[in-house]
Amino acid sequence: MNNNNQVILAVFAHPDDDVLTCYGTLARLHREKHQVYVLVLTAGERSKTSRDDVRIAEAEAAAQLVGYSLINERLLDGKLKYNIDTVALIEKHILRLSPHVVITHYPQEHGQGHQDHVETASAVVNAARRIGNVDWILYAEPPIQSCDFSPSLFVDITEYMDLKKRAISIHRSESTKPYMWPEMAETRARWWAIQADLDDHNHNRFYEPFVIVKGLLRRNGTTTLSGGDTFI
Ligand SMILES: [Zn+2]
Repeated sequence: MNNNNQVILAVFAHPDDDVLTCYGTLARLHREKHQVYVLVLTAGERSKTSRDDVRIAEAEAAAQLVGYSLINERLLDGKLKYNIDTVALIEKHILRLSPHVVITHYPQEHGQGHQDHVETASAVVNAARRIGNVDWILYAEPPIQSCDFSPSLFVDITEYMDLKKRAISIHRSESTKPYMWPEMAETRARWWAIQADLDDHNHNRFYEPFVIVKGLLRRNGTTTLSGGDTFI
């Protein structure tokens, strides 16, 4: 596969999860000519703010801002389960799209994060680990900080920070939630930049963090995430 034509698949439980956790990275990868897909397992219909399909419409608009593809499965919001059906469903999409990189939720401990995020992460890793061409599996940053989230990979999204803030603003139906404040996302990304790049004395860069679940550099040495920029 050409380095400029990798397939990236992000799998999340709810329509705003991609925007909050890794939108800058997805935007950067799409801009660098990779094929980016986001699979959302539910329509987020149990949110207090939800009505009809408004959250899916917002997710579509955020995806179109960059141009990546959104897939929605409409499983029951709040009731996702790590079971054979969910694993098989995700496996079907992985086999169909043949991604090189799979991104999903960081599975926060029970009681700290959303139960759908935990179940989704388990199902995604189960499916992705068993399919040979998935070289990279990544956990994205949880939308509300987890004490034990300790990232091992940082992606510079400085050129995409404004786009990420616009995408968060598109999710108007969720705007009363504290983590949906675009300025908060910017502050977090700036804080991660300080952790990632100590030589940046201008403090004007922005990063998204990930935990590497699996990372594979193949013998031919062509495994990169973006352009000529080596992944690790
Ligand atoms: Zn969510």
